[in-house]
Amino acid sequence: MALIVQKFGGTSVANLDCIRNVARCVKAEVNHGNQVVVVVSAMAGTTNQLVDWAREIGPMHDAREYDTIVATGEQVTVGLLAIALQNIGVDARSWLAWQIQVHTNEIHGAARIMDIDTNLIRERFACGQVPVVAGFQGISPKGRITTLGRGGSDTSAVALAAALAADRCDIYTDVDGVYTTDPRIAPKAHKLDRVTFEEMLEMASLGAKVLHTRSVAMAMRHNVNLQVRSSFSDAPGTFVVDEDSIVEQEKISGIAYSPDEAKITIQGLPDQPGIAASVFGKLAERQVNVDMIVQSASTDSKKTDITFSLGRVDLDKAVGVIEVNRDALGYSGIDSTENVTKISVVGMAMRSQPGVAKTMFETLAQKGINLQVISTSEIKISVLIASEYTELAVRSLHTAFGLDDE
Ligand code: ADP
Ligand code: ASP
Ligand code: MG
Repeated sequence: MALIVQKFGGTSVANLDCIRNVARCVKAEVNHGNQVVVVVSAMAGTTNQLVDWAREIGPMHDAREYDTIVATGEQVTVGLLAIALQNIGVDARSWLAWQIQVHTNEIHGAARIMDIDTNLIRERFACGQVPVVAGFQGISPKGRITTLGRGGSDTSAVALAAALAADRCDIYTDVDGVYTTDPRIAPKAHKLDRVTFEEMLEMASLGAKVLHTRSVAMAMRHNVNLQVRSSFSDAPGTFVVDEDSIVEQEKISGIAYSPDEAKITIQGLPDQPGIAASVFGKLAERQVNVDMIVQSASTDSKKTDITFSLGRVDLDKAVGVIEVNRDALGYSGIDSTENVTKISVVGMAMRSQPGVAKTMFETLAQKGINLQVISTSEIKISVLIASEYTELAVRSLHTAFGLDDE
């Protein structure tokens, strides 16, 4: 008998027919003689609506109340799925984070799971019941409801799989696996049978929202056997595996894009030691995460410009911090835009193959796409470009790196 965690995302529970379909999928796994724990998201669109309401009633709202509101979407789907399962003869019960005891830290809106009590789930297994657990939520040390950040129910599922030492964690979604790039914008994308944890971590953090970044990090740390598959077909999914289980790769694995970016340029900063430290120090004090950075060389060694990218959500805060510190920083001007997208090429193959950057830059140049900022790591190259070129860039790079499905 295997212990399996099945997680169903928003589109898989989008309406009552979808929920009935999920119930059949769970029943099939139970009929194989397996112990099953189910984790669900809110119905597609519900969390967006809840977030909008919280923002509308108070743009500077209290994050504790934000969590109280946005965690409710999952309460509806656990109840509905438990009933759908009972209707087809599967003994099931819904559970919320405070009942199971999913302990998180106190960072409301972006909480981290610290510990999960598995006693209750194990008791229910013992009586042959299927626990249906609300994803995305936890409880803080003070006993308040927390949420894990958008897309966080993948992390709930992986954390449960790790805590229960499950044999497998299946993430069911609306695509049948991890693709070479988002199949919604590149029709020639193809499914990967396997992808390494490292690559998946990069792809997720660079915008491929098919898996929540922290779920991949957690699966990697706890060696969780993770599969991404579709709740609408029986096709085998993509397994996320250790590097050792993939022999030498020749091609890069994928192209990711993140539209949620912004860019700031600070002009005419004094070109002297410590200036970058004070700019980024002031931003860090206000919890602004900066991503890619370039500093342009000054012609007269007296003044310099610094350009950097950051999450769109932090743009207003960051501009405010820089403007408040204008006298201390001594710059002459500031320019900012939301009209940027980060495009990244990801793959282990980069370690052994020179020329990936050349192919990437040449391909974008041939399409007349200007590179505003560049950053690299061992297995990825990212560039910031104007948002209107996103689809053109993703599709051209997909072709240039030989990833198109023939
Ligand atoms: P769920 O609601 O099931 O959690 P998400 O919308 O969070 O689903 O994630 C699935 C979506 O991720 C897909 O519909 C697809 O558009 C998008 N996506 C982005 N990049 C990729 C990729 N490389 N492979 C597969 N899907 C991707
Ligand atoms: N319902 C939450 C969201 O929309 C969590 C999730 O779907 O993973 O972000
Ligand atoms: Mg998701």
